[in-house]
Amino acid sequence: MSIWPRRDTYEVTVGGVRVGGSNPVVIQSMTNTDTADVASTVDQVTDLWNAGSELVRVTVNNPESARAVPEIVHRLSDLGVTAPIVGDFHYNGHLLLSDHPDCAKALAKYRINPGNVGAKRRDENFQKIVRIALEEEKPIRIGVNWGSLDQSLLTELMDRNAALPEPRDAQSVLREAMIESALRSAELAEETGLPSDRIVLSAKVSEGPELIAVYRELAPRSRYPLHLGLTEAGMGTKGVVGTATALSVLLIEGIGDTIRVSLTPRPGGDRTEEVRVAQQILQSLHIRSFEPQVISCPGCGRTTSTFFQEMAEDIQGYIRERMPDWRESYPGVEELEVAVMGCVVNGPGESKHADIGISLPGTFEEPKAPVYVDGEHYTTLKGDGLVAEFKTILADYVRKRYGEQASRSGGTAAPAAS
Ligand code: SF4
Repeated sequence: MSIWPRRDTYEVTVGGVRVGGSNPVVIQSMTNTDTADVASTVDQVTDLWNAGSELVRVTVNNPESARAVPEIVHRLSDLGVTAPIVGDFHYNGHLLLSDHPDCAKALAKYRINPGNVGAKRRDENFQKIVRIALEEEKPIRIGVNWGSLDQSLLTELMDRNAALPEPRDAQSVLREAMIESALRSAELAEETGLPSDRIVLSAKVSEGPELIAVYRELAPRSRYPLHLGLTEAGMGTKGVVGTATALSVLLIEGIGDTIRVSLTPRPGGDRTEEVRVAQQILQSLHIRSFEPQVISCPGCGRTTSTFFQEMAEDIQGYIRERMPDWRESYPGVEELEVAVMGCVVNGPGESKHADIGISLPGTFEEPKAPVYVDGEHYTTLKGDGLVAEFKTILADYVRKRYGEQASRSGGTAAPAAS
């Protein structure tokens, strides 16, 4: 489905999930439970996986969490949750992975922040993790973050820059330091013996324009798959919009093989929101499809009752409710587009563009609602049963169109991604 050419990369397999190459952009997320609390972590990973997270990262920050990892992976497997679990290490990853071989074995990938592997023995500690990855046949992600950038490297580049006849601005040196940190670490990993196709890179910052600039510079300098994310994106609308705008620019340019949306949830809020936002970014860009899209207009002075909003919400809810069944029975249904429009101004036109659409009567318009199917007028609905009738037409359309596709392909469900 994607209309954007992708950057050429190695293909890295993370516990059965393939990242990079010609594979769909992978969605990942991260838990915010105490990893040592096995039950809570298993519950949250299950929620994230059910929401569509294809990789889930957990913090491994102390011996208790390292000891908990094998039990978490075991329980998830018993529950049928197949998301590979990635360990997030800072400062003591070399110690935890060597002291807890069962943890090293259970994890599907190790995330290493080269700015946080120790100052004096940075390379030694980094190589220790790489050797464990080699032994356990695991990939790594070299995850640079501007909040924890390797300070000695930054100083080196700043000094070199200051000696230039025309020094560059500090921001571009910072960018270069992030990229150098990722690339030099990858080089060291390969020198230690790790194959190129077991390395993923990321270089995250918390400002959209800067993220775009860093990845644009990083992307052409290697063939490692790139993990994209606006780090510390923030809460609510700010986090969602900030992430969507920055990631969209890069994804459109073919940069990014796996994404994470780093939202700050409200206290007690739903962690799975980050997965839904990631899905919506990919679906809005026609990169992957996850669920049918309801196209509805914003409403205006022509829609003075709440009927139109209620109907749009009702149809969205109906589709969500039916999706577990539809996804199984009607492969391809996630690409369906349904229009629910408020009046005749744009209603019929938008309904014709969609696979199926309804144009409700605006204020003072004749109380009838034309329905369009595959661009043609299909019927006109009236009266109190209008919503129920439209749902029946919608369900029939799904059954007919996608049921036929399923029987033509021998009933095999098509992959969710394209
Ligand atoms: S389609 Fe009609 S109701 Fe909806 S925003 Fe446009 S003019 Fe307003």
